[in-house]
Parts: sequence; structure tokens; C-alpha cells
Amino acid sequence: MSKIDLMSRRAAVKRIGAAALATGGIASTVQAQVYKPQEQKKLTQKAAHYQDGPMKDESCASCPYFIQPNGCVTVEGPISVNGWCPMYTQFSPFDRGAHCAGAKSC
Ligand code: SF4
Repeated sequence: MSKIDLMSRRAAVKRIGAAALATGGIASTVQAQVYKPQEQKKLTQKAAHYQDGPMKDESCASCPYFIQPNGCVTVEGPISVNGWCPMYTQFSPFDRGAHCAGAKSC
């Protein structure tokens, strides 16, 4: 094996190693960006403008974000079943626009 062949073999091995490292780095970067909704932080009660009482006929009891017995998907607990915050809705978060079917504007 000539000296030139040996040098090019070493250079090729170095390039393959560098490419493997770069690929591993990209893979770990992509891994870090995976969306994990269960790790989303909830709003504090103050930030969400939560109140312990209902707003007219709206309360956590009929909000799809309420989690029995005293939790909420979006606001830190404890949450009262009679509480309320401006994120109150009657639409399911899984609705995906179905509530707009047949509506003139939505
Ligand atoms: S009204 Fe607000 S605090 Fe109550 S369950 Fe719905 S999102 Fe949570």
C-alpha cells in the first residue's frame, strides 16, 4: 500500500467519524425539539385571572378543561368546581371546528 493510499484512507476514516458525530448531533437536537404537551406548564391562578366563584352561569364544572376532582388542564390547582377563569369554554378541545358546522360565521 502506497503512502498516498494510506493518507487517503485515514482522511476517509476521519470524514466518516466527523459525519457520524454531526449526524448524532442533529439527531439529538431533533430529539430535544419533540413536542411533549404533558410537560407544558400551567398558568398560575393569578395569571389566568382565576376566581373561586362562577361567572354568571359559567363555571369550571361545565368547562372541558376541568379535571375531577379539583384540577384544570391549563391552570394550576386546586381548582374549585364552582370556579371560573376567562379561558372558560363549552367547546371540547377535541372539537377541531366541528362546532362551526352549518354556522354562517365562526
Ligand atoms: S374555567 Fe378556567 S380554571 Fe375552570 S376549568 Fe375552565 S380553564 Fe380551568
